[in-house]
Amino acid sequence: MARTKPRRRDLWASLRPNGAGLTKPNHYLDMLRVAWENRRALPYASRILRKGVCDGCALGVAGLHDWTIDGVHLCTTRLSLLRMNTMGEMDHGRLADVAPLQRMPGAELRGMGRLAYPMVRRAGEPGFTRVSWDAATASAST
Ligand code: SF4
Repeated sequence: MARTKPRRRDLWASLRPNGAGLTKPNHYLDMLRVAWENRRALPYASRILRKGVCDGCALGVAGLHDWTIDGVHLCTTRLSLLRMNTMGEMDHGRLADVAPLQRMPGAELRGMGRLAYPMVRRAGEPGFTRVSWDAATASAST
C-alpha cells in the first residue's frame, strides 16, 4: 500500500473554512460569485479595484490600499458593488412610466443597468425623460 505524503501545515491558511470567526475572514465563495457576475468585464473590473476608489462607505480607499489599514483593504461590500460599475446601460424606455417599476424589488431595479445620461421626472409626468447635461446641471443648481 502506497503511503501518502504528509501535508505541510505551514501552507494551510486556516483550519476553518473561509476563515469563519477570524478578524479578516477569507470570503472565497463571495469572491468567486463576484468574479462570475463580472465575467464579461473582468479586465475592467480588475482596473476598478486596482485603480479606482471605493463607493461602498465613508472609510475611503484608493485602489486596494488606504492610509488606515495595513495590507490589502477590500471588503465584500465593495466587491458586491462592482457589478454596478461593470453592467451595461439600461433600457431607458423602461423609465417612461415608473408605475411598473414600483412593484419591483431593489435588487431587480439595480440589475436593470446603468443610467447612461441625465433624466428628469417633472411633476405630473408618469416617468422620466432625457435631458442634456447642461439642463441637468442647471436644474441641480436652482
Ligand atoms: S472596501 Fe469596504 S470598508 Fe473599505 S471603503 Fe469600501 S465599503 Fe468601506
